[in-house]
Amino acid sequence: MKLQTRYTDISELLAIKDMPSAVAEPQLLLFNDKLADNFAIKHDSEFLAKLLSGSTIDNDVAPVALGYSGHQFGHFSPRLGDGRAHLLGAIADKDGTLWDLQLKGAGATVFSRGGDGRCAIGPAVREYIMSEALHALGIATTRCLAVVTTGETVYRQPPRPGAVVTRLAKSHIRVGSFQYLATQGDIEGLEKLVDYAINCHFPDINSTGEQRYIEFLTAVLDKQIELVISWMRIGFIHGVMNTDNTLISGETIDYGPCAMMNQFDLDTVFSSIDHQGRYAFGNQPNIANWNIARLAESLIPLFADQESAVEQLSPVVNGFAAKFNDAFNTMWQQKLGLAGQHEGDHALVSELLGLMKQHQLDYTNTFNALTESLLADFAIPTSLKEWHKKWNVRTSSKSYETMRAVNPAVIPRNHTIEMILAEYEASGESSLKDAFLEAFNDPYVYDERQFEWLQAPKDYDKNYQTFCGT
Ligand code: AMP
Ligand code: MG
Ligand code: MG
Repeated sequence: MKLQTRYTDISELLAIKDMPSAVAEPQLLLFNDKLADNFAIKHDSEFLAKLLSGSTIDNDVAPVALGYSGHQFGHFSPRLGDGRAHLLGAIADKDGTLWDLQLKGAGATVFSRGGDGRCAIGPAVREYIMSEALHALGIATTRCLAVVTTGETVYRQPPRPGAVVTRLAKSHIRVGSFQYLATQGDIEGLEKLVDYAINCHFPDINSTGEQRYIEFLTAVLDKQIELVISWMRIGFIHGVMNTDNTLISGETIDYGPCAMMNQFDLDTVFSSIDHQGRYAFGNQPNIANWNIARLAESLIPLFADQESAVEQLSPVVNGFAAKFNDAFNTMWQQKLGLAGQHEGDHALVSELLGLMKQHQLDYTNTFNALTESLLADFAIPTSLKEWHKKWNVRTSSKSYETMRAVNPAVIPRNHTIEMILAEYEASGESSLKDAFLEAFNDPYVYDERQFEWLQAPKDYDKNYQTFCGT
């Protein structure tokens, strides 16, 4: 495998050489053949298992752990970093784009702070199948190339089989990466990191000086809005939008406590530690805005003086709400296939959301039913009958196509994911995984038979809880 060095020449603080530790009995559990094709990765599974568990290093590039800070639930940790991830290097896809090839769970690093650097099979498989599902749904996300079981036990409550996930991402530059260099006072590194991130993700930015930082912040903000809108369109709750889990590229990263919202309620939270609802479904835009403010703060040292920095950066941060609301309105307009823009549209959307919450309607099923009702007789919830008449006059011959493109027929339901993970934890294999991933070949095409087993069981989510980094 041909890997390239990345990040080490930005700052010596950013990428610290660190070797993964070999595991007892590496075995390839999941391998993403389709994704591997983009990279022309061709090896036998025994070799892949060794390589993708960190038990063999197959190139001249030294593995590194990346340093970053992070606001976790609003509290600042100046030095987090990859406590259980090793970046093996960057690999070029067939178009020449570089992707980070990162192992998660391959042992402790200089950033482990007492953690074991390991990962249990459940969270490893969750990351693989959730990121595949999101990718299939058209959501920007890091990808998973493989899950390798280690033959070792990881000591959690209860002890579980260990695994290593191989993640591919366009970069691992986070809001927390900028916070890290700013906090360490490495202004030269900070400037290089901006340039590197621009090169990687926003190559159209070619201004210089302070204007360059403003355009960079604006571009990151736009990407975050796009990402959060795409999450909310399908009912995704990230669950832990800390600044260290916010990629500059606008890709979804960190699938620890994520979940899907079934019954519509903006206050939906599943994470066991999110007592205040900081990362609730409907609070995700506020948090994205808050994270952008943290990025803006870490860019201040790059300006000639602080006052002018604040003067120039603030309008960008404060512009989030208006931009988000525009995009959010467009999202609802598409989800409802509204023809043109009318005065009463806002009220029409609000009324629907109110009814969905009041009658505990399933988010995905409701929009799916509305979509399909345009083509054939489709059961619309009784509680929406009156609203449906008002909506119907706002649709046109183009509505079906518009709605079908944005309303998924199938989502990775929480209980389905849990069933698959339970199978892997119990026996190291799953009878459902293939059918699950197959359903995501065409997640926007409605097929009653195929999707029946993926429906939300009644009341299932009432006691559902998710957990960070296990
Ligand atoms: P996360 O909750 O996955 O975003 O992780 C937050 C921080 O905790 C990051 O710095 C991780 O590297 C670190 N971390 C999470 N799990 C472990 C572990 N098992 N061993 C060492 N560090 C960990
Ligand atoms: Mg190590
Ligand atoms: Mg993380």
